Amino acid sequence: MSDEEERRIARARLPEGLRPETLAVRTALAPSQHGENSEALFLTSGFVQPDAETSASRFAASEDFTYSRTSNPTVRSFEARLAAMEGTEAAVATATGMSAILLLIMGLLKAGDHVVCSRSVFGSTINLFAKEFAKFGVETSFVSQTDLDEWRAAIKPTTKLFFAETPTNPLTDICDIRALADMAHAAGALLVVDNSFCSPALQRPAELGADVVMHSGTKYLDGQGRVMAGALCGGEKLIKDVFGPVIRTAGMTLAPFNAWVVLKGLETLGVRMKAHCENALKVAQWLEVQPEVARVYYPGLASHPQHELAMRQQGGRGGAVVSFDLKGATPEAARAAAFHLIDSTRVISIATNLGDTKSIITHPATTSHGRLSEAQRQAAGIGQGLIRLAVGLEHVDDITDDLLRGLSTLKNR
Ligand SMILES: *Cc1c(COP(=O)(O)O)cnc(C)c1O
Repeated sequence: MSDEEERRIARARLPEGLRPETLAVRTALAPSQHGENSEALFLTSGFVQPDAETSASRFAASEDFTYSRTSNPTVRSFEARLAAMEGTEAAVATATGMSAILLLIMGLLKAGDHVVCSRSVFGSTINLFAKEFAKFGVETSFVSQTDLDEWRAAIKPTTKLFFAETPTNPLTDICDIRALADMAHAAGALLVVDNSFCSPALQRPAELGADVVMHSGTKYLDGQGRVMAGALCGGEKLIKDVFGPVIRTAGMTLAPFNAWVVLKGLETLGVRMKAHCENALKVAQWLEVQPEVARVYYPGLASHPQHELAMRQQGGRGGAVVSFDLKGATPEAARAAAFHLIDSTRVISIATNLGDTKSIITHPATTSHGRLSEAQRQAAGIGQGLIRLAVGLEHVDDITDDLLRGLSTLKNR
């Protein structure tokens, strides 16, 4: 933008040193000549060029706007805002969280390269590494979420990438981002952290040494269950020079409309996450004293084995996902109890998503982990009595009342 243009457009540039809450609301491309206060939605696939010479130089440089697979102003505002919130130099937006991982691997790896990945990451992430990338000769070793020695032992001369996600779904195990970053860097590898569960409102992995922060924007960044989105955040060189050319040709691009929805979602991320976490902590504390509940998994509870690490890494908050085991003498009895509790709810949604204003209840053993054998499920700690609750923004007493409907009638079924 020229000085002349900048003088004509109100608030075209922000002052330095703004705080995260302000960046979440204000970071975007400069407004248009109309001075719109809410960022504009540029719902266009192409951009008209003033003349052939300008067109040629814009296509060569890929800086200005030419075609929305390459770049779009609304998408770029989302990328700038998310990068500011994660504390990285840049970000690239993708159509979904999974396509962000596709872009990551296409950009960084080739046949013969090796990845070390926690075996507790999102189920589709495991499949993508174990099945799809393996077809192209990228090999992955799956290791414990919490045992650093397993990560170290898995390193090979061809190891290029560590992939972690914390806390895990559904058991909320925490990995030590700083320790993994140090280990990856000593091995000449990069650390990637899937930050979908915490979001930058709680956890900023780049500050702890992660090289790339990955997101499913479908979860808390949108936060209202409306659109699919994804992103990779990292250094300018990595985003522009490594991932830029791949997304431009391979096209896992985020649609402008979805970018606009998530861009506006980021403005309320901080207040939403605070409210989600406050509700989740109260629900977890309430569950802990229910006689029918065998165990509660929530990083915000002092009983969580990694409570201190979680509090340090997640800005003193436990996140919005609470899991709990119901008592049951046999797996069949535990499953019957879990189904009874789930079916007794009348407010909470029975679904497998999370990251919504609406609370969502899930039975992992028959949904997200349904395709595993019983032995694999046992090894992963996913029992038939386990229930995952993604705590929403309803009044917390309505959430616990809804759970009590099933808990209080468990005995007289
Ligand atoms: C949902 C999710 C993904 C995949 O994201 P999509 O947007 O559904 O493709 C990846 N990682 C985590 C932790 C998730 O929860």
